[in-house]
Amino acid sequence: MKGRRLHDGRVLCSEERHMSPSACARSYGKGKSEEGPTVTEGHYDVAQVCESGHVANSRSQDYPEFNSPHCAKCGAKTITTCPSCKAPIRGAYYSPGYLGLDHYEAPAYCHQCGSAYPWTGAALAAASELADVLDNLNGQDREDLKKTLGDLVRETPRSRVAETKFKTIMRKVGKEGYETMKSVLTDVVSETVRKTLFGA
Ligand SMILES: [Zn+2]
Ligand SMILES: [Zn+2]
Repeated sequence: MKGRRLHDGRVLCSEERHMSPSACARSYGKGKSEEGPTVTEGHYDVAQVCESGHVANSRSQDYPEFNSPHCAKCGAKTITTCPSCKAPIRGAYYSPGYLGLDHYEAPAYCHQCGSAYPWTGAALAAASELADVLDNLNGQDREDLKKTLGDLVRETPRSRVAETKFKTIMRKVGKEGYETMKSVLTDVVSETVRKTLFGA
């Protein structure tokens, strides 16, 4: 749901955003000068994400008052930079005159060095472990299932093939196994894959 757009293109802080008064005031201040609204450069903010992959704050620089050292959902430590190369985790995009309400998801891989973020590595490891214990699979199925995982968490030329293989193999494991795999992977697979595989 979008906030009400003002005549000059700015958007009112809506109740849905749960913004603090100071954050709201700062948003209004943005892109505004004595002469009226001016254009501020669009930019990516820095995201604060817990090591399990929960987004604590998708705009940690613009709205530091929402930052927290640990995750409110799982208690894990939060990070704002890539553990491998220290590049900031790309957060929500700020575009001038618009308080984006677009859904933000933590990236799976670092845009700078390409390393898997901790949550991606953890989910892949968990899914791989699960592949070893799911019912009704033979050894080949388990190996094939594990091989598809990497192509499900990022868009590659093999992602569509991986989806097909994944679906074929997961048909054998029954509802319980499927649901468990879904809960492990759903936060880290790419949006396209999630829609195709899990319909959400
Ligand atoms: Zn968490
Ligand atoms: Zn990196």
